[in-house]
Amino acid sequence: MTSVIPEWAPPSIAIANSDHTFPVRRIYTIGRNYADHAAETGLGGSTGSVPGISLKPTDSLLADRGTLAYPAATRHLDPEIEMVVAIGRDGTDIAPSEALEHVYGYAVGFDMIRRDVMHDCIANDHSWDLCKSFAGASPVGLLHPAAEIGHPDAGDIVLEVNGETRQHGDINQLIWKTADIVSRLSGYAPLRAGDIIFTGTPKGPKAVVPGDHLAGRISGVGTLDITIR
Ligand code: MN
Repeated sequence: MTSVIPEWAPPSIAIANSDHTFPVRRIYTIGRNYADHAAETGLGGSTGSVPGISLKPTDSLLADRGTLAYPAATRHLDPEIEMVVAIGRDGTDIAPSEALEHVYGYAVGFDMIRRDVMHDCIANDHSWDLCKSFAGASPVGLLHPAAEIGHPDAGDIVLEVNGETRQHGDINQLIWKTADIVSRLSGYAPLRAGDIIFTGTPKGPKAVVPGDHLAGRISGVGTLDITIR
């Protein structure tokens, strides 16, 4: 059998200090997972029985050192710096105590959001998908295997725009920790090798404009640099 349209390879993330890549199957994002950011949204933290989860299309991936074209139909584009967890092994109903065994590694990501579109979606009682679905909406830095860096659970998470600090928190402030997220997500649908999870952002996302340079770092995880054009 042959395809009736051209086939494509899955988008992938480069692995640090390696020629290997990590193909990406699905992109999950967790909302309001730092109390200080949750408070500033006015919506409260993701502390309920269900974590707030969105999916982004895999073709929104953008490589480290990449250039993000300012998206169409947008007046307010926010970057959210987040730790990204990459799943290396399939699992269903994973116990929290075994969850980290399913994690291949970690990276720095920017969960890019059309904030104006998000507010329009909320006002109209629509799904938020449009606010997170555009080319370049998911910049991800080099992936660092857990076999090399362990499973980071504390450390500065910082976003600088044009050299000025915009966000500064600590990944020890996560409401849903990595193991919680992996366990809970795998209870709703099988987690698969290749899935990646953006784990939420600390307070302070602020709009960026063409020409801005975004530099992110998470202590013990890595860095991510992109430019908006
Ligand atoms: Mn986010």
